[in-house]
Amino acid sequence: MPLSEESDSPSATVHTPARLESTDPATGDVVGVFPVHDADAVRATVERARAAAERWAALGYAERRLRLAAYRGHLARRLPELADLVHRENGKPHDDAVLEVTLAVDHLAWAAGHAARTLGPRRVRPGLLAANQAAYLEYRPLGVVGVIGPWNYPVFTPMGSIAYALAAGNAVVFKPSEHTPAVGAWLAAAWRAAVPDVPDAVQVVTGYGETGAALCRAGVGKIAFTGSAPTGRRVMATCAETLTPVLMELGGKDAMIVDDDADVAAAADAAVWGAMSNAGQTCIGIERVYATSAVYDRFVGEVTRRVADLEPGSHDRAAYGPMTMAGQGDVVRRHVADALAAGGRLVAGGTVDGRFVAPTVLLDVPETSAAVREETFGPTLTITRVADAEEGLTRANASSMGLGGSVFSGSAARAMDLARRMRSGMTSINSVLTFASVPALPFGGVGDSGFGRIHGEDGLREFSRAKAITRQRFALPVPLMSFARPAPAARTLARVTGLLHGRHR
Ligand code: NDP
Repeated sequence: MPLSEESDSPSATVHTPARLESTDPATGDVVGVFPVHDADAVRATVERARAAAERWAALGYAERRLRLAAYRGHLARRLPELADLVHRENGKPHDDAVLEVTLAVDHLAWAAGHAARTLGPRRVRPGLLAANQAAYLEYRPLGVVGVIGPWNYPVFTPMGSIAYALAAGNAVVFKPSEHTPAVGAWLAAAWRAAVPDVPDAVQVVTGYGETGAALCRAGVGKIAFTGSAPTGRRVMATCAETLTPVLMELGGKDAMIVDDDADVAAAADAAVWGAMSNAGQTCIGIERVYATSAVYDRFVGEVTRRVADLEPGSHDRAAYGPMTMAGQGDVVRRHVADALAAGGRLVAGGTVDGRFVAPTVLLDVPETSAAVREETFGPTLTITRVADAEEGLTRANASSMGLGGSVFSGSAARAMDLARRMRSGMTSINSVLTFASVPALPFGGVGDSGFGRIHGEDGLREFSRAKAITRQRFALPVPLMSFARPAPAARTLARVTGLLHGRHR
């Protein structure tokens, strides 16, 4: 039965401009019908959230932690139900949806458990010039955080902002993608059920881009945006109207470097999972591999053997599902055609059947072609031969994007060195995507992949503002910040500064 925000209303199943119909990408079946919230409705939602934010912040860390635990428990107990909804609305296999929800629950636990220690009040050293002061630092919530999310990981991705914003003491208004409103509405309903005493601390608004733009203009303390770079630019421009700060989690074109002494079978296995799982619709998915000449042939052999066993579909044995958005198959077609026209070779896939894209492997595609430069967001992989890992790193870093990446090497020291110099926010060594499953690690990109961080302590601070307080413990014998300052004080100060710092050259 289709879900609906207004399921008791007979008109809810009629598709009008004021209604948003969400469908199963594999079957076309209606998953749910949702209102298209206009600017007034969004503003009213944010106002309700503002009142809830005060109440939520006033609860303090310990009480919030209890309620966040109740939410986490609710999600964990209903995990199969939520995973089924993700499967139907996004198209990914049920088991992948289970993994996604599990990771989101883990982040919720970490954020709640670490908020007080990361953000709570602490004393800091006042320093010599202010030795008469006690100095305090704490991180205060922003109020209401607007979360605008994509459809590819409709639970995990928004939860990376929602969990950390809530733990930091904010209320959240979440605008899910028009392709996954049912999952967004489910998450908000779950909050109301689990935390009935502050029900408006998590609310959802549904609709298209205009609804998201209205959220940017509704007076929120911050917009946490996850989506493509073009939309990110529009969101920033809208937020600039009201000086609303933004967090930008944008697309990627992540690379894997396979070094001479890498475990080639393990690298191939990871590359195939990193590229093809979730039908390649993963912001931190591996889209490019740079394999050294020493391992290139073996690596290509291992990858092609593995992808031959992968079958897309929506049945139980499917490795991955359909493209969630109808138009995404056209992007894959364009990138494959462009790569082949430029001299690349296709060793697997390349076909698009309706919403299902065969696992596609392209070899030695010129670095200038779209398949190497633009985010494909499909089950595709380019593999390029390089002389050594250093050349692989240079090519990996030549992208305007820099989200994640991976290094496979037999030497931990060499891999660490390459990982450090990879121009990206996150790198996994001898695995793929794993940084996203470590809640203590910050998640975010550089360049066209955006800025700001979710997850970890940085993620908690992202949704707060630093508050600095000094308390005078006793008056200085010689006041420095007063018109009553004696004339010689400045000369003495200059002498002391010269003694303390002047010897450094
Ligand atoms: P989009 O950029 O198309 O949309 C993202 C969200 O923005 C959607 O909710 C969308 O609403 C909304 N939106 C659209 N126009 C506006 C506007 N003018 N003002 C405010 N909001 C607006 O991205 P996709 O949903 O297609 O997601 C895929 C992209 O997200 C990929 O590039 C992927 O790499 C990236 N991504 C990045 C991640 C990261 O952490 N860095 C994680 C996951 C994905 P609607 O759908 O209703 O149009």
